[in-house]
Order: sequence, then structure tokens, then C-alpha cells
Amino acid sequence: MKNDKRICRICDTQDFHPTYTGCEMMFGTRELFEYFQCNQCQCLQISDIPLNLGSYYPNDYYSLVQKKEKENPIKNFILKQRFRNAIFDKGYKINKILSYFIAMPEFIIDYKHNIVNLLKSSSITNYDARFLDIGCGHSSAWLNALSVMGFKNLFGIDPYIGKDKKHGKVKILKKDLIDLEGEFDLITMHHSLEHISDQKLTISLASKLLSKNGTLIIRIPTVSSYVWEKYKEKWVEMDAPRHLYLHSKTSIELLIKQADLEIFREIPEAIDFEFYGSEQYKRNIHLTDSQSHWLTRDNLLFSEEELSDFNKMADEVNRKNEAGRICLFIRKKS
Ligand SMILES: [Zn+2]
Repeated sequence: MKNDKRICRICDTQDFHPTYTGCEMMFGTRELFEYFQCNQCQCLQISDIPLNLGSYYPNDYYSLVQKKEKENPIKNFILKQRFRNAIFDKGYKINKILSYFIAMPEFIIDYKHNIVNLLKSSSITNYDARFLDIGCGHSSAWLNALSVMGFKNLFGIDPYIGKDKKHGKVKILKKDLIDLEGEFDLITMHHSLEHISDQKLTISLASKLLSKNGTLIIRIPTVSSYVWEKYKEKWVEMDAPRHLYLHSKTSIELLIKQADLEIFREIPEAIDFEFYGSEQYKRNIHLTDSQSHWLTRDNLLFSEEELSDFNKMADEVNRKNEAGRICLFIRKKS
């Protein structure tokens, strides 16, 4: 019911927080869900976490689709040498020679900066580094790329997959985070935190699993953005009901602090998707509709000019630090 007093699940403030109605627009069921935005920390959160959350992740849900990667041992060897130089500043001479044969690939996950840049901002110093990717689905593009680069301690975890998986050096465990033991030097949450019910528990468990000088990378959508202000309930990243939390910069910082961690770097990561996806929602076209630009990329839904504007707007909000997506680098409090 609207106008109920609600308790913020991040800062515990109980109040008459303003409410919003999110609409299921990935698969287009158009089921409605109430969200509220905390008066205190501005975290936008679903009012009641659905009991049947799993049913909103059908088998063709994008992160759960199993992908097969092609292996090419010679190319992989050369890539490993090139990455060794790029990440650790080693093997300069061989890298210079190899650069004539193979271009440095841009392992872009879903944004313009590549893995090398992410690794250079973290605490990784050698190939023994231990990686954990939380909420990665059946297959982690991130871990697969790290495997090609020569890393070998590569773990993913996701409670929603059918069973444990192994692709080469990458091991993906069907497990809850609470059941995982060990220590990791780089823990990543690539657009998975917003899907998880218990935010405080998840971050405190990630903190426990982080090595002393380790780095936690969290990539999330944020309401501290131009797109939230412009589109509100039509914002594509609201993704009701799968996105249970749309953090503000204040609320994510609070969550991190509560686990004795600190943010040491933030990168804005807006992409054209947050603009064209939201424009689609405004036109009542869901993401997997046959007309959807997200699916086809070659349709007539948007003009060339509009598509170019979406890219320009993404660049602009990144410049102004008003992006709808951010990447946070986090470490233990010193
Ligand atoms: Zn709050």
C-alpha cells in the first residue's frame, strides 16, 4: 500500500519514503512492482522482495546463457605475452616484436574501458593472483578473458546455475556466497549486486573473502544520475523486479563503510543503452520485443541521428560524472 512507513534496508531509516512503480520490461510481462526511494540515503529499492525471484530469470536470461569460447593456443600464447607487458610492465622487448603480429585485443566487458585498465587500478601484481566473480551466471566473460591472459586461479560463484562448471582454468561454483571459503585478491561484482536481496550480508561476506591488500570492484546502475532524473520509472536500468536496489552514491558508500571498506576510485560508465533502452520503455517497447534495438541493432526504431545522439549523451554524462552506471574500486579501510 502506498504511503506506508517503510524501513530502508541500507540505512534503516523508517519514513514515508516516496514510492515509484516499476514495470517488468525485459520480457514484457508488464507486471508492476512498487519501489520506494529512501528520504535519507536515496537508495531506490523494491518495497517487497518477490518470494519467487527465480521465476523472473527464465532459461534464456542473458547472464545465464551458456557460451562456448573457441580456443586458439598460439594466439593465446601471444596474447599472454602482450598482457604481461601491459599489466605488469614486463617483457617489453618480446612484446614489441609480438605487437607486429597481433593487435592488443580490447577485452571490453560491456563498457569502453578494457580489462587491462581495470587490473592496473587494482592490486594485482602477478599471475598467482586469486580472482572471484560473484553472480557471474554459467559463464563469465571476465574470467574467460583473464584465463586467456594467463591467470589461473579463477573462480565464479552463482547460486542460480544448474551445477558446478569448469571451462579450462575457470571454475564456476553453484553456491551461496556464505558457503564459500578462502581468500581472493580481486573480487568482482559486474552488475550483480543490484540483484541480491541481502546487501549488507553480501558486502560483509565479500569483505571477509578479500585478501589484506585485495580489491573489490563493484559495477552497478545508480540513481545519482542524469538518466534517473530524466526517465524515473521509464529508466531501463530499473529493470523491475530483477534490480532490487538502485543505489545512490550516498547509499553505496554507506554500505561499503558498514563493512569496514572504503572506495578509492570511481569511474563513470554510461553507455548508449541507458538512453535508447529508456526511450524504448517510453514507447512501450520491451527489451526482447522483435522491434527492440537492444536485440537486433539493425532495426528502424531509431534514426542514425538519434543513435548518434545516444552515444554523445553517454559521453557527456560520463564527462559530467552523472552516468547511470558506475564502477567502484574498493579496499579494506587502512
Ligand atoms: Zn536509506
